[in-house]
Amino acid sequence: MSKNIPQNNLTIKILIVLFIILMCFLIFIKIKQDNDPNRIMEEQRTNLFSVIDKTTNVNVTKYSVYGTHFNVEGTLNTVKISGIQINYVNLIIKNLEGEEIEISSNFDYTDNSISFSTSDTINEGINLEDLSIDNYYLLLKIIYSNGDIKYYSLKNASEYNNTTYYTLTKNNTNNKIDIAFDTYNDIPYMSLNVTKAESLPEDVYDIAIDPGHGGIDTGGVSGDYTEADLVLEYGLNLKSKLEALGLKVFISRDGSESSQEDTTTNMYDEDGRINILNKSKAKLLISLQLNSNSYEQNDGGVEIYAPNNCNLDFANLLASNIVTQANTHYSNLSTFKKADGVYVRNFTNADISSFNKNAQRDGYEPYTITTDTPYLYIIRETGGIATNAFVDGRNKEYGTNQYYNSNTGIETYSIELGYMTVEQDFNNILANSDKYMEAISQSIKTYYID
Ligand SMILES: [Zn+2]
Repeated sequence: MSKNIPQNNLTIKILIVLFIILMCFLIFIKIKQDNDPNRIMEEQRTNLFSVIDKTTNVNVTKYSVYGTHFNVEGTLNTVKISGIQINYVNLIIKNLEGEEIEISSNFDYTDNSISFSTSDTINEGINLEDLSIDNYYLLLKIIYSNGDIKYYSLKNASEYNNTTYYTLTKNNTNNKIDIAFDTYNDIPYMSLNVTKAESLPEDVYDIAIDPGHGGIDTGGVSGDYTEADLVLEYGLNLKSKLEALGLKVFISRDGSESSQEDTTTNMYDEDGRINILNKSKAKLLISLQLNSNSYEQNDGGVEIYAPNNCNLDFANLLASNIVTQANTHYSNLSTFKKADGVYVRNFTNADISSFNKNAQRDGYEPYTITTDTPYLYIIRETGGIATNAFVDGRNKEYGTNQYYNSNTGIETYSIELGYMTVEQDFNNILANSDKYMEAISQSIKTYYID
């Protein structure tokens, strides 16, 4: 008997050790399970979707990217409860950790139907440059007057599929943002997936420059100078300044084009300036021009033409930087003026009737143009649906802007540096052109990069 005691002890010891090993193993498995990224993500996703009201969802009727900003419009049918009103409609951009950005939206509520849009202006709303790397889910949050807060998911009811956006190059890096629709347990949702990009794809640029005119179209002429040659020289200078900031820059012409090219009618050709500029997928486009018009009391000066329905902060910055750095002044032209040196030129009623007459004369269905439509084609036709681009080939004199119906548009500013027809103004441009370009480059750096 006594001999067995140590043996029993040994067995017990072995059993205890085995038990401890087993427990350790189980704990290890449990910890591993708890920390399994897929499992955590699944749990977080379940949590996120658990707050969604499943009785209805938002129909996204339109979503678009203009420049660096993204906006959503949609409608939602709700059950009307008498006496209860809607206080706020906010778009929520939420990651799986539960952190959220709230964008207060404009809304209208009639007959149990809510329509909303995330911004009044095309270059505000959600700044895609500001999103850090993560996967975001978009929800609509409605705050009712009785204190109820409800979340709704977003379903694609637009004609647009998923879209990819690349952020501007900063410190040699870019983010890629996939704007996509999908479903989770039969719940439709919209998401923004921000990942690090190795670099920009070959065909994607940060900034585009369009030196006006070219080919047979010289633009304004003064002595031996032509507008086309001067803005080309200035555009190439601007391109190298922007490249020195690390930006990838596309230029619509570089001087290698034929002097016989008819740039007055080929802008919508397959390889015309509008299609190649749109194809560059740039976020910002600077069109360079020199004025030649004369009007009373004209002493020249700078005019920045901005898109319609825009926050004009960047246009104001451009105008003020050019004036301070290039020894010039704001134009005193008052027509279409929005602020010092800043102009928004839309179609006037007179422009519209003249366009309609031309359509009738040439036998094509007139375009839908309103007094909210930008008049300058370089601004209008590079902005897609955000700027009411319309050239779809019905006017046989021109081709088709292949991007007229695009929900991704370039934010475009047309800069009239000054007047070739005003001697002092023109001499200042010739002498200080580098300062004009430096002011533009600095404005881009301050507003978009820093
Ligand atoms: Zn011009």
